[in-house]
Amino acid sequence: MGSVTAAKPRVVTPPALPSSHAAPRLQVDNVSLRYQSPSGGTFTALEQVSFEVPDQQFAVLVGPSGCGKSSLLYLTAGLAEPTEGEIYVGGERVQGPGADRGMVFQGYTLFPWLTVRQNIEFGLKRRKMPAAQRKEIVDYYLNEVGLTQFADNFSKQLSGGMMQRVAIARALANDPQILLMDEPFGALDSQTRLQMQQLLLRVWGHSKKTVLFVTHDIDEAILLGDRVYVMGARPGRIKQILDVPIERPRTLDMVMERSFIDMKREIFGLLHDELEEAH
Ligand code: ADP
Repeated sequence: MGSVTAAKPRVVTPPALPSSHAAPRLQVDNVSLRYQSPSGGTFTALEQVSFEVPDQQFAVLVGPSGCGKSSLLYLTAGLAEPTEGEIYVGGERVQGPGADRGMVFQGYTLFPWLTVRQNIEFGLKRRKMPAAQRKEIVDYYLNEVGLTQFADNFSKQLSGGMMQRVAIARALANDPQILLMDEPFGALDSQTRLQMQQLLLRVWGHSKKTVLFVTHDIDEAILLGDRVYVMGARPGRIKQILDVPIERPRTLDMVMERSFIDMKREIFGLLHDELEEAH
C-alpha cells in the first residue's frame, strides 16, 4: 500500500476561490436556471452558481439527486441556456453546442452503424482532417483505451465498459478545451466501474484535459478529482469546494488512506446535512 498521509482536506468556501493568474478554462458566472412548472409557476434548479475551473484541472460536481449537476453540465455543453448568468469556456461565452466541449454521458451514445474506429474519427472527418493525420490520432486513442484489436467492431458487439472507452476516445480525439462527463460509469457494474476509473485516471494523466465530471459517488469524486464541488439542492447551488489532498498517480488502494477517509467523511457530512435540511 502507498504511504499514508494524514492531511486534512483543505476547505475552500465559495466565493473565496483562488484566482489563477491564467484565465480559467471554465468560468460559470452567476448562473441561475428556472424551469416553468406545468401549474404555471417556476422551479429554481440552479441559483446563482459561480465557480472557475483552471486549465488542466479535474473538477468533480458531487451532490444529491436533483441538485442540478446534470443541468449545470448541459448548460456548459450549450444544450440549454441559463435563465440568468453566463458560462465561458476558454474565454468564449457559451451560446450553443460546440466541438470545443467533448461530452461523455451515462447512456451509450455511439453511432451503431459505425465501427469503433469510425466512431472515434467522426469529428475529425467532419473537420475534413486529412486521412493520414486522422489515422494517427485514432490509432493513438485506440491504444490509450485498449481497443486497438476492436477497431473494426460495431458497437453492438461491445460491452458497456468498452462503449464508454470508445466514447472517451471519441471525445478526446477532437482535442476539446474541456471534457464534460455526466455519470459516465453510472450504468456499469461495480468491477467494470473500478476498471474504468483506473483507465480514465491513466488517460487523463497523459492528456491533462480540463474535466468537469458529474457523479453522486463520493469515492469516485475523491479518487478522480483535483477539486470537489459539493452541491446542495432546493435550490441547486455550490455548497462547498474542497481540494483533494491526495497525490497522483492515484490508485484504488488509496481509498483506505487516512486522507481519503477524512475527505469522504467531510463530504458525507455535507450531503447528510443536506438530507437533514430537506426534512
Ligand atoms: P441532478 O443531475 O443533480 O440529479 P438535474 O440537473 O437532473 O439534477 O435536475 C435538477 C432539478 O431540475 C431536478 O429537481 C429536476 O427534477 C429538475 N428538472 C430537470 N430538468 C427539468 C425540466 N426539463 N423541466 C422541469 N424540471 C426539470
